[in-house]
Amino acid sequence: MELEFHGATDGTTGSCHILRAGGKQILLECGLFQGHRTDTYKRNSTFRFEPRSIDAVVLSHAHIDHSGRLPMLVRGGFQGPIHSTGATVDLAEPMLLDSANIQLKDAEFLNKRRVMDKVRARHEHRSEHRSERRRTRAGLAHFHTHDDAPALEVSNPPTREVLPLYLEEDVRDTLPLFVPHHWGDWFSIGPNLRVRLHDAGHILGASWVECEARERGRTTRLVFSGDYGRPQPILRDPVPLAPADVLICESTYGDRCHPPVDDTEAQLSLAVERLHKRRRGKLLIPAFAVGRTQHILYALSRIFEIKKIADIPVYVDSPLAKRATEIVYKHRECFDDDALARLRKAESGEHRLKVHFTQTVDDSKALNMAKGPAVIISASGMMESGRILHHLAWSIASPDTEIAVVGYQAQGTLGRRLVDGAREVNILGMLHAVRARVTVMNGFSAHADRDGLLATLTPLAPLCKALFLVHGENDQRIPLARSLGQRGFARVECPRSAALWKL
Ligand SMILES: [Zn+2]
Repeated sequence: MELEFHGATDGTTGSCHILRAGGKQILLECGLFQGHRTDTYKRNSTFRFEPRSIDAVVLSHAHIDHSGRLPMLVRGGFQGPIHSTGATVDLAEPMLLDSANIQLKDAEFLNKRRVMDKVRARHEHRSEHRSERRRTRAGLAHFHTHDDAPALEVSNPPTREVLPLYLEEDVRDTLPLFVPHHWGDWFSIGPNLRVRLHDAGHILGASWVECEARERGRTTRLVFSGDYGRPQPILRDPVPLAPADVLICESTYGDRCHPPVDDTEAQLSLAVERLHKRRRGKLLIPAFAVGRTQHILYALSRIFEIKKIADIPVYVDSPLAKRATEIVYKHRECFDDDALARLRKAESGEHRLKVHFTQTVDDSKALNMAKGPAVIISASGMMESGRILHHLAWSIASPDTEIAVVGYQAQGTLGRRLVDGAREVNILGMLHAVRARVTVMNGFSAHADRDGLLATLTPLAPLCKALFLVHGENDQRIPLARSLGQRGFARVECPRSAALWKL
């Protein structure tokens, strides 16, 4: 058995691991690197392996940092099956199409910026020459020769146009390769390798992966966590990871503990009460379209029922979130008992939260004008793009607005600046004073925290020959590796990019 790690080795995005076992070469995930456009474009644009040589992909869940490079893999010549659960297959379609659209916009942005950089360089070059001429006329020495003047940059051959990583047609070519499976059912990838998926309790359809390979008369078992979840509303609790010779586990929160979900829902409840009392303004909730939006809707339905609130409209202003919510409703096999009971109540007309899904840009604009009170859930979750920016631009300067921050906010994002207490922010090119109340609600995470990871991993120590930690910043995975070493794991590795391991 061999493992090669091609992503999520120095952070939480770009998950992509090659497993060579039982005479086959399979890819566990094929995710997109996310972050600053220029850096990630470079990292995303090439594979360090031959896509045609991959026999099959096993996809743990539909999040783009796990699935987002599948269309590139197919364009590169991969034609094998992509194994996953039915719910993941359904979510992958709108998510990959949405991603194709983002790739197009990112390429346009990068091209525009390159043109702007060239114009700026040319302008600097001209003004340099103008000042040189002035210095010459004044009899001053020339400080610049043509060798070190900015002219050199300008006279370089024009940089090539940035092309989108992939297009909608690449997504259309990818979707027929998906093969849905039920949790717990074995499927074969060749005569000596079989795989099954188990409920990871992270987002709808998310799985952890169990592989069994026969090599030289010996059976080796590998377990890969995907993104491992935690008990949360709607979904069933994650199934504990199974014992294996080789483990690959995520470490997003390897050194952090989440506040309880109930405390966080209580915070949301207080924000709703504040809105209810003021009778005007908006509660803006920037949220990821898949997973977080549905969790928030579920929490709001309970809050509105308990507080007997019937007259505040709730809007979901994101076409992807609308589609994802429809898919969640379709896959009730993923629901826990509480969610099924609540759904039955709602279907009988009892305690039904009235949610308005906006579709067109005009619907969204009309919401900007509304005085409220209203709850508006919109993407993107880190307030970097999408319709939430327009809502923020319209309402952030009003003290009648409250912004509920319900997700992780990465460094450098507008969301992080608000969390850090900025009093003035740039939104869509305009400066806005921040008079809105910003409330951070940290407990909605869909990932296991340190205690959750230790609880599921520790019982596996006696049988495990090697444990690889991926999908975590080093300040999270290195402390987790240390804790696991103290709990009896003989070998814990934090692999680097493209590292090859023979087992
Ligand atoms: Zn995920």
